[in-house]
Amino acid sequence: MDSIKYLLPDNEIPQTWYNIAADLPEPLPPFLHPGTGEPISPEDLSPLFPKALIEQEVSTERWIAIPEEIRQILAQWRCTPLYRARRLEKALNTPARIYYKYEGVSPSGSHKPNTAVPQAYYNKQEGVKKISTETGAGQWGSSMGMACQMFGLECLVHMVKVSYNQKPYRRALMEAYNATCIASPSDTTEAGRAILEKDPDCPGSLGIAISEAVEVAAKNDDTKYCLGSVLNHVLLHQTVIGLESQKQMEMAGDSPDVVIGCAGGGSNFAGIAFPFIGEKLRGGKNVRAIAVEPTACPTLTQGPLKYDFGDTAHLTPLVKMNTLGSSFVPPSFHSGGLRYHGMAPLVSHAMSLGLMEAQAYNQIEAFTAGVEFAKAEGIIPAPESTHAVVGAIREAERCREEGKDETILFCLSGHGHFDMQAYIDFHEGKLQDYEFPEEEIGMALSGLPSFGNE
Ligand SMILES: *Cc1c(COP(=O)(O)O)cnc(C)c1O
Repeated sequence: MDSIKYLLPDNEIPQTWYNIAADLPEPLPPFLHPGTGEPISPEDLSPLFPKALIEQEVSTERWIAIPEEIRQILAQWRCTPLYRARRLEKALNTPARIYYKYEGVSPSGSHKPNTAVPQAYYNKQEGVKKISTETGAGQWGSSMGMACQMFGLECLVHMVKVSYNQKPYRRALMEAYNATCIASPSDTTEAGRAILEKDPDCPGSLGIAISEAVEVAAKNDDTKYCLGSVLNHVLLHQTVIGLESQKQMEMAGDSPDVVIGCAGGGSNFAGIAFPFIGEKLRGGKNVRAIAVEPTACPTLTQGPLKYDFGDTAHLTPLVKMNTLGSSFVPPSFHSGGLRYHGMAPLVSHAMSLGLMEAQAYNQIEAFTAGVEFAKAEGIIPAPESTHAVVGAIREAERCREEGKDETILFCLSGHGHFDMQAYIDFHEGKLQDYEFPEEEIGMALSGLPSFGNE
């Protein structure tokens, strides 16, 4: 029994993105101005983002057309394959059917180009010359670098320092795409200098790198800011994953009972899960959606739902989200893309409405599952993606124990070809299991802003 691949006829890709805001029983709480505590207006965001993306950020239209030029580029790697993992099912001896949507076939090896391309497109259309952004493990920086190069935009990437040192190949990839990559915290911004003064050895965090990237965009008229996750328009762009999956599951004559994605800022999880949650909200099948995060950065499972800043230097609007506190610097574990103190407001909101669940696993459990998956299916998952794999394997084991033949679908958000040092460390027994860093998170949470939080 070999694994089976499903591709849509003529590599069909969606004509529209799906916006869950149209189907939510309660609207998303507004973003607040950090100075006044009042809801911000779309114009407040215009120094950072082009108008078209701000419109998408606040839109409540259910279907938003994907411009043809973007579809042409996405067509280079989309539709992405959906696999039935029969060899993994056999290895687990489970009655469950396991499917995975593989986003590692994109040029940079993850789901991130699904939003990097539209973000570059809309910035180019509105006359922007340069993009300032941040990256954790380098997946976003390389995807944004590629998209900028395609549209003739300059790209400056602030890369979290620990990853900058651990992942020279990701840096080289960014440079191959013509992007400039600097380690964060850096001495090139006020935000970076303030951190270095307090802690010269700071390993960096996404919260810090976002501050640096936003500062550069705010101070330069020809420069705008791009974010690889968290924001509503990013989640919107990622729904091509779930929309394709729905059609591919239909081709397979099946439909998921459980949909799973790993969650750092929440974009690939939302990408695969929101179209299914939308169907549920419109009276369709009651699927369970599970976001899986690392125990070392347990935003959804341990963080309260509060208004907080998106960055460490407090340059962003206040957003209501599950948060560990904007000053929390997660430990330097291997899944760099999951080291963010907050969670997408839309994912946090869906969680508070009971539309989804969250689970946390430590990195040894995650890598163990990643290796088991590679042995069965041949693909080496990105360290981030191993969290989705362990979530899917645990559900399949539950099905075995309960004798249930449920259908499990998960998003394999990227491949791990640039992350083999993490696998070497795992095989040599060098990975540590970080537990919930209670004391540090307590400290970070004591600094939450007062606006919006009674
Ligand atoms: C960036 C990244 C993630 C985490 O980001 P989300 O916005 O939560 O999807 C997960 N997997 C891979 C491969 C990534 O590159």
